[in-house]
Amino acid sequence: MIRYALACSKGHTFESWFQNSAAYDKQAKRGLVECPVCGDTKVEKALMAPTLSGTKKRARPSMPAPMPAPSEAPMAAPEAPAPVAMVSPEEREFRTKLKELRDHLTKNADNVGRKFPEEARKMHYGETEHRSIYGEASPEEAKEMHDEGIEFHPLPVLPDERN
Ligand SMILES: [Zn+2]
Repeated sequence: MIRYALACSKGHTFESWFQNSAAYDKQAKRGLVECPVCGDTKVEKALMAPTLSGTKKRARPSMPAPMPAPSEAPMAAPEAPAPVAMVSPEEREFRTKLKELRDHLTKNADNVGRKFPEEARKMHYGETEHRSIYGEASPEEAKEMHDEGIEFHPLPVLPDERN
């Protein structure tokens, strides 16, 4: 639908709705558009100034369009889909904590690699001074160390190492 501001040959201005501009043209040509004031069918699209009222009303978008150009205010275009993720804040925080712990460990501890059980034992039995180490141990080695009362902890593995 299009709203046109119209004026008859006597200068009355009024507004009317039309299906589209072609419908207006057709109806106006066939004399089907008439002035509500005097019944004149010689109407033309008119320039209309927005009514000025003393009160500060919000400019209504339904004000007559100054030009016949279809001025239907463009509806807010639907927003383009944005990338989304399902990572909850908790998970994010957890991940960050894990990474911090891991970073801290790897930065402040010696990487003894596969010698971890050996190094851990030496420390446990007082053969070397205690220090932070990290490395690798097979499940059996881990069990043995545990049985011997050696305290160690698995190095936290990040859920997703790709980052
Ligand atoms: Zn008229």
